[in-house]
Amino acid sequence: MNSIIIIGAGHGGVDVAFGLRERGYTGPITVLDKSSFVPYERPPMSKSWINGSGGPEELTLRGHEAFASANIDLMLECELLCIDRERKVVETSKGNLTYSTLVLALGSSPRQLRLSGSALAGMHHLHTLEQASALRDDLACATSVGVIGAGFIGLELASSAAKRGLPVTVMETAGRAMPRTASEFTSAYMRNRHEANGTTFRFNATVQEVIGPSGRVERIKLSDGSYVEADLVVQGVGAIANGSWISDFGLDFDNGILVDSTLRTKDTAIFAIGDCARFVDDEGGATRLESIGNAADHARRVSATIAGTPVPAPDVPWFWTQQAGVRLQMAGRIDRVEEWLLTGAVESNAFSVLGWRNGKLMYGESINSPSDHVTIRKLLAENTAPTLSVLRPIAEMGLKAAIKSLA
Ligand SMILES: Cc1cc2nc3c(=O)[nH]c(=O)nc-3n(C[C@H](O)[C@H](O)[C@H](O)COP(=O)(O)OP(=O)(O)OC[C@H]3O[C@@H](n4cnc5c(N)ncnc54)[C@H](O)[C@@H]3O)c2cc1C
Repeated sequence: MNSIIIIGAGHGGVDVAFGLRERGYTGPITVLDKSSFVPYERPPMSKSWINGSGGPEELTLRGHEAFASANIDLMLECELLCIDRERKVVETSKGNLTYSTLVLALGSSPRQLRLSGSALAGMHHLHTLEQASALRDDLACATSVGVIGAGFIGLELASSAAKRGLPVTVMETAGRAMPRTASEFTSAYMRNRHEANGTTFRFNATVQEVIGPSGRVERIKLSDGSYVEADLVVQGVGAIANGSWISDFGLDFDNGILVDSTLRTKDTAIFAIGDCARFVDDEGGATRLESIGNAADHARRVSATIAGTPVPAPDVPWFWTQQAGVRLQMAGRIDRVEEWLLTGAVESNAFSVLGWRNGKLMYGESINSPSDHVTIRKLLAENTAPTLSVLRPIAEMGLKAAIKSLA
């Protein structure tokens, strides 16, 4: 009997397991994870959950009952130690398991800055439920918060801390918020929103040292010689793919486990998906994405491949973030953008910014406009967007109205 082993019970791994059952696969499926928690959702940990009082159960993705009723074995506190590709056996901290197909859904880990003082009390990362719980407990007694990095997680956290009435300072090496993941236009808009909530930004500021003679962080020294006072500091400086050890077993790793456009490694019995996978994209480039949408898309395609059902086309990449009272949704590839166009009116606090290459739509970010986001995803998926020169003269009326007027 074909046996599927999935390493990692996060968003991607769990979706593969249940996706296999939904597609009629009846053979044995085992999902294992080194965590002791039942699979949980990460996005609320930097948003609603961090300011709430609910326990880990509020984050549950699928509970033990769901696994039992789908006849999927869930092995927690179980770590993958070794892969014997010839015998198709994985060695784990709880014994050996034989597979016919192995899916690596290992996720990513927060990048660590090598800072003097980074081991002081009050210093935090936010990636696992254990880290989120420790951060939430510590926020309850903090008096001022420093956030290193103005990326999504840093800004969401800054927003959550500001909501508690705490003074927050965000320190960022680049000159603007979300420097790699949002247009300059949206960065500036979001900066204003955060500042209106009381958050202070220190751009072009590299953190040099964390200081806490008492054993707990008290101040942060910046490269310009100035200091930021904070007794709780969160580092949100990006993530790196898990699974670099895969090269010990003859598979390729380079900023992610290397897979082809079908998410297979060079061993056809082994797939890698989600945050840990660097895959061949629609233009032949090697891409790694960190988002729920990406993990879900990979899981859908891999479960269809294994179950032998029609494999859907890759989804348009999408992402969302909630910060400073704004819902920001993105679709497409920002790294391909050469030119920007604002659609709608900023004063309405609901608009979209579209990114173009050679007059062709590549990407769009929507501020408080879920229906624009849906439109952008559809235009990108169906390749039906008007050209930039057609849309530009009517952009002011807003995306949906402009598209309607062209129909
Ligand atoms: C605080 C936070 C907020 C986020 N907010 C958003 C958001 O708003 N929108 C969005 O799209 N994305 C968001 N993300 C990103 C999103 O959660 C990830 O992209 C997604 O979880 C990736 O799914 P995955 O299955 O690849 O990895 P994960 O969900 O990280 O799961 C990987 C699992 O593998 C396990 N594992 C790793 N190595 C081993 C091993 N050797 N043996 C056994 N188990 C192992 C880990 O314990 C983990 O449970 C957020 C992430 C964080 C941390």
